[in-house]
Amino acid sequence: MKKRSVFLSFLLVGSLLPGVSSASAPVTSAGHGHDHGHAPFETHISEGLPKANDFKDLTKAPPIERDVTTKILDESGKQVGSRTFKANTGDSISTKASTGSQKVTVYAVADAQYRAKYSDWQTRIVSIIEQADVTFNRDHDVDFVVQAVGSWTSSGSNSSQILSNLQRSFDGRGYDFVTGFTANPNFDAGGIAYVYNSAPSGSAFSVNLDQGTANTAKAATHEYGHNFGLPHDPQGSGIVCLMNYDYSYTVDYFDAAHKNQVNRNKAWYR
Ligand SMILES: [Zn+2]
Ligand SMILES: [Zn+2]
Repeated sequence: MKKRSVFLSFLLVGSLLPGVSSASAPVTSAGHGHDHGHAPFETHISEGLPKANDFKDLTKAPPIERDVTTKILDESGKQVGSRTFKANTGDSISTKASTGSQKVTVYAVADAQYRAKYSDWQTRIVSIIEQADVTFNRDHDVDFVVQAVGSWTSSGSNSSQILSNLQRSFDGRGYDFVTGFTANPNFDAGGIAYVYNSAPSGSAFSVNLDQGTANTAKAATHEYGHNFGLPHDPQGSGIVCLMNYDYSYTVDYFDAAHKNQVNRNKAWYR
């Protein structure tokens, strides 16, 4: 109710003052000084996604939309190698049909615990992102390209602190997205991300827990949703959407309202 009344009063002011454009709307909303979850108006850290009930790996290779030579970076950002991931045409019809024309760049990093657990961590995290971006290629014409993989030493006593640590460690490297993968026992969620209200000034950050490549890909899609500004759908609402905890690990699409929001906000990453 409060939100609606603020909006209406803005419309009224806007109509009475010639020259006040709709571009000033965020100023109005920023001025209402209460803190009970008007998520869209300020950048904030999401509530952590609950963990999945099980550990689940992908049973087949995810589609890779284009050949990419991915840099391997050390923690300071120095290149120590490279790997080529070939476009996967095993499922050629859907792969060709669903490649997004907007390419966004990703720097994927695995923390020490994750790297200790998996000697093939580079392939795993690239596979997770290639699975996570199926939704964005298919429904939003956006293709996530992993341009670099690297090492990270995560620190923090909970998920939110570990996300802040990622942001402090890797901002300003010039990628659209920096995506962390963790097996740190202090990470007490399935995933967590910044929910932006406009184009982030640097990269967009999220962290996903190791829950097997299949579950982690679902979490990663959800967390990328936050990076595009999406809030959660209420649990028990019946809204079938990745942003509803009831469906995060089972469906691979956003509901109509959230689809529209992604389509508007994808301009942030052009
Ligand atoms: Zn969430
Ligand atoms: Zn939704």
